[in-house]
Amino acid sequence: MAMASSLSVPLPIKTSPKQPTVQLPGVGPCGARSLQLPSMKFTARPSSSPVPLVVAAATSMVGAETQSGAANPAKVLPLRIGHGFDLHRLEPGYPLIIGGINIPHDRGCEAHSDGDVLLHCVVDAILGALGLPDIGQIFPDTDPKWKGAASSVFMEEAVRLMHEAGYELGNLDATLILQRPKLSPHKEAIRANLCKLLGADPSVVNLKAKTHEKVDSLGENRSIAAHTVVLLFRK
Ligand SMILES: [Zn+2]
Repeated sequence: MAMASSLSVPLPIKTSPKQPTVQLPGVGPCGARSLQLPSMKFTARPSSSPVPLVVAAATSMVGAETQSGAANPAKVLPLRIGHGFDLHRLEPGYPLIIGGINIPHDRGCEAHSDGDVLLHCVVDAILGALGLPDIGQIFPDTDPKWKGAASSVFMEEAVRLMHEAGYELGNLDATLILQRPKLSPHKEAIRANLCKLLGADPSVVNLKAKTHEKVDSLGENRSIAAHTVVLLFRK
């Protein structure tokens, strides 16, 4: 299963207006149906492999100016901002994993992967900042290799793509929304793991948590959601 690293397609990646549009069958680690996107090809690796996942012919505009002959070269931005949102249903019989930390609770997230709402959200924020497709398109949950996958695999790939594109994390601000359990006893462990996965100093990684005032599915302990904003700096 290991892929030669020379197969990796380095960012910057240019976008061709003539690329055909295809429908990926995947619905992603979160269960949301993927949208149409320009032709893409992804070759993935097992989580145990040290070889990076290969992203080919993606739609990124990041750094496209460095490719000669690009039809619509993108501007080089000194800063890029990205937003991520995720929501999962909570069901009895599943572990609740937030930011890679197993949180004791009477229910957890039903998902194709480990259902880590925070890591999915952070991955989407980083991918968004880079102008890349979302997590559901890069890691389709129709692919059995992602079944039960630890979301740290998706994080590692997002961070690799960020560095490959020539960016580093400025800061990250995340908000978790859940009625129960109380997150305060676990917040520092979650934040520490997030920093480790991002290779970031704790001073630039912020984590907030709030309830949903007992209304709607979030407030009735039937779902959990997260928002994340990241700022990336050109290295
Ligand atoms: Zn998710």
